[in-house]
Amino acid sequence: MSAKVAPKNELKPKGLMGISDQQVEYHFETHYKGYVTKINEVWEKLETVDRTKANQNSSDYRALKVEESFNYMGVVLHELYFENIKDGRNTAPSEKLTALITRDFGSFDRWKEDFRACGIALRGWAVLVYDLTSGRIISNGLDAHNMYGLLNTVPLLVLDVYEHAYYADQGPKRPPYIDAFFENVNWDVVNKRLEAAIKARP
Ligand code: FE
Repeated sequence: MSAKVAPKNELKPKGLMGISDQQVEYHFETHYKGYVTKINEVWEKLETVDRTKANQNSSDYRALKVEESFNYMGVVLHELYFENIKDGRNTAPSEKLTALITRDFGSFDRWKEDFRACGIALRGWAVLVYDLTSGRIISNGLDAHNMYGLLNTVPLLVLDVYEHAYYADQGPKRPPYIDAFFENVNWDVVNKRLEAAIKARP
C-alpha cells in the first residue's frame, strides 16, 4: 500500500482569539506535519515488512501497526481540530445541534462545562462525537491519538489538549487555552459534520 498523505496547509488558522499565531505555528508546522511525515514513513515500511514473522508479543509488523494507528490518528485528529477552529467567528451551532446538546446535556452551558472538564481530565484530546448506535452525542476523551476512541461514532468537535497546543501562550495553564478554544469554534464546520453523521446512521 502506498496511500501517501500530504499536509493540508489550507487548514492552518490565523488571527485566533486567545491562541497566538506563534503557538499555531509550532503546533501546525512541527507537531501536525511531524505526524504526516511519520505516517508516510510507516506506510512505506509496511510495504515490505516481513508478514510471516507477525507476532502479538513483539514483531516488526505489530510495531508498525501500532505506529500506524498513532500517527494516522495524529494526522486525522489535527486536521479535524484545525478545521474546527479556523474562521469560526460569527458562527453558531445549528438548531439541530442545539436540540441534540439540550436533549443529551440539559443545556448548552452544561455541555460546555462537560467538554471543558473532558479537556482538563484527559491527556490528549476532547472529542464531541455522534454515536451511530444510539444517536446520542458524547464527549469522548483520549489520552493518546489511538486510545479510548469510541467505535461507531463520528467526531463533531475536536479539541487538542496536549501541552504543545498551548504551552507557548499559557505555560502550564490549560483551562484558559480551553476557554480561548471555545471563542474560536467554527460552528459551520461542526454543523456540517453533524448533518453528514446523521445521514450515516443506519
Ligand atoms: Fe497537537
